[in-house]
Amino acid sequence: MNGVCVLGSTGSIGVSTLDVIRLNKNDYTVVALTANRNLERLFDQCVEFKPTYAVLSDQTLAEKFRKKIEHSDASETIVLSDLGALELVAQLPEVSIVVAAIVGAAGLLPTLAAAQSGKKLLLANKESLVISGDLLMTAVKENGAILLPVDSEHNALFQCMPDNYISGQSAEGIRRLVLTASGGPFLNMSLAELQNVSVEQACAHPNWSMGRKISVDSATMMNKGLEVIEASYLFNVSANLIDVLVHPQSIIHSMVDYIDGSVLAQLGNPDMKTPIAHALAWPKRHSSGVSPLDLIVNNQLTFEAASFEKFPCLRLAYEALENRGTAPAILNAANEVAVDAFLSKKLGFTEIPTLIEKVVNSSAIMAADSIDTVLHADTETRVLAQRYLERV
Ligand code: NAD
Ligand code: MG
Repeated sequence: MNGVCVLGSTGSIGVSTLDVIRLNKNDYTVVALTANRNLERLFDQCVEFKPTYAVLSDQTLAEKFRKKIEHSDASETIVLSDLGALELVAQLPEVSIVVAAIVGAAGLLPTLAAAQSGKKLLLANKESLVISGDLLMTAVKENGAILLPVDSEHNALFQCMPDNYISGQSAEGIRRLVLTASGGPFLNMSLAELQNVSVEQACAHPNWSMGRKISVDSATMMNKGLEVIEASYLFNVSANLIDVLVHPQSIIHSMVDYIDGSVLAQLGNPDMKTPIAHALAWPKRHSSGVSPLDLIVNNQLTFEAASFEKFPCLRLAYEALENRGTAPAILNAANEVAVDAFLSKKLGFTEIPTLIEKVVNSSAIMAADSIDTVLHADTETRVLAQRYLERV
């Protein structure tokens, strides 16, 4: 039995992870589940999976949650909410698999903690790799952790790597990595039309059902930008060898182009349960609950170039990756503030890249040589971005 800790169990990835675990009950014991504020969903998950620990990060809700749990079928579950609780459950000796599915920089420290205790780490929280790529990859290597990407593109690339590939190594014979991108809900809109899009339109992704932050990131294509950075650290490949190819049907999840002319791709219906099941079961396979791919039904696979003019976030991400150091952490923090402001209707859609670029251009890039430096860059950038936001 594999002991599992799901960080961010109430989110889109967390729920899909528990769906896959439910299908393969005999292989897993759920040891810990965590949420930020979604008390009701965390409660239902505790009653079903009876974890040893549940973390509710919002301290004001934790007492209410504790009372609710005490009088339920999950009364044995220990409720934690103090600072450090996420790191604690990510490092428990009875946990062998940690699913990092918290959104944003909030996921960084628990993800790092899992790497430091040598867990099998299933990474959905791409922001932690963007913010602290070298530090996280070093922690994985030095502590014998196994890093398996859950992000669909990176999971696809991992599956197309040579046999026995280990994340962070540079594989031989690769010409390029090709990340596919759906292009999001606004692919066919003009720049002028983009000015007036609403939060609801931005969150309605054509192919994937996801949390709100990553949905907005997909609409601006910052998601693909963050993924280019993620791929660079995961596969030890420089920015100039990573291409983005728009493929609106999201059937091919990414490709590895080898020097002998072979191009290996991973295909499947667009459902995160496939990469989650792959990473959970790795190096074996088990079911995911995803319906088989029918290429007669999905018989139109099309491709086009990504536009840096229409989606400046993509350009900003490539620039941050070229600059390295704290540049990706600065980019990420500025983006988190901008997306939050857009979601709360304080910023227009096309103002997201404008705000990020202003912040990035007025921030000093340092060497990302310690987690403190990176966290400092994150905090400073948020302050600066808020200041610019007040002037919009
Ligand atoms: P979501 O918003 O649906 O869920 C986020 C989870 O994180 C929730 O459980 C929430 O309670 C928790 N959380 C949020 N803020 C927190 C905080 N401050 N402290 C502790 N917990 C907190 O997000 P999602 O769509 O599931 O995405 C999760 C991560 O996976 C993101 O990094 C995203 O980029 C990545 N990802 C998601 C998808 C997808 O299809 N949803 C695909 C690829 C990668
Ligand atoms: Mg992705």
